[in-house]
Amino acid sequence: MASECLFCRIATGEIPSARVAESARCVAFRDVSPQAPVHVLVIPKAHVSSLDDVADDSLTAELLAMARDVARAEGLVDRGYRVVINTNVEGGQTVFHLHLHVLGGRRMQWPPG
Ligand code: 5GP
Ligand code: ZN
Repeated sequence: MASECLFCRIATGEIPSARVAESARCVAFRDVSPQAPVHVLVIPKAHVSSLDDVADDSLTAELLAMARDVARAEGLVDRGYRVVINTNVEGGQTVFHLHLHVLGGRRMQWPPG
């Protein structure tokens, strides 16, 4: 339920976060437990549980475009960066409100763990 969802509460500002970008439908904020020098989460303001639950792919595109814009604004483009969407349990998703991780500022490993 949206009122009990952590990222819904971050989207409304009820729970504080360090915002770096905002549009009508999306918001980006710094991860509280960064896994790289830059670690930003991009979310839809409206509750969507996972990538598999997006009903309107114009939202998917808007989220990805905001992730790209955040990477540009954080100065990550030349060195490179990674955008990750963990989806459901085996994908490593722990917060069930869709979010894109934008990670950069260090060399990424492949394959991921
Ligand atoms: P997931 O594992 O679901 O892909 O990623 C969830 C992310 O949310 C994790 O990287 C975690 O550090 C981040 N996170 C969890 N709680 C909070 C919070 O209260 N504030 C912020 N800014 N990030 C959070
Ligand atoms: Zn939510």
